[in-house]
Amino acid sequence: MTAATVNADFDAFCAVRNLRRTTQRMVIFGIMNGNRHHPSVEEVWAEARRSLPSLSLDTVYRILQEFHDGGLFGCLPKYEKVRFDGNRAPHGHFICLECGEITDFELRDGVDLTAGLPDGVRAEHQDVRISGICRRCAGKYNQNNRECVK
Ligand SMILES: [Zn+2]
Ligand SMILES: [Zn+2]
Repeated sequence: MTAATVNADFDAFCAVRNLRRTTQRMVIFGIMNGNRHHPSVEEVWAEARRSLPSLSLDTVYRILQEFHDGGLFGCLPKYEKVRFDGNRAPHGHFICLECGEITDFELRDGVDLTAGLPDGVRAEHQDVRISGICRRCAGKYNQNNRECVK
């Protein structure tokens, strides 16, 4: 992604959501855009404070939530605790962002998920997670009320 498209994405996001292009938003966008390390909110905060020392963690939460709600960046919902799994067959997990319910799903043959792994790594465990909204929660789900970064 070039610098021009980066700015275009950010500008379009701000324009569509009617948000000001503040330094805080620009710094956090710059940290997140193309970031392959799946940072936590605290990690984004630590990096952003190098240029914005007075930035609060709450502000970082709020801006990341805006970016997420606007579809700029995804997030990986975390498990609250270690979860044990009685299903010993290969399978994936669907995680409801609303109620947290974890549902198994079958992995179909013919898709080799390890094909894109970097050279030199040794795969030992495979955990396929898809997050979304379960059937039970679909009715009450409100697009503007996602709490996934907290
Ligand atoms: Zn649910
Ligand atoms: Zn399972």
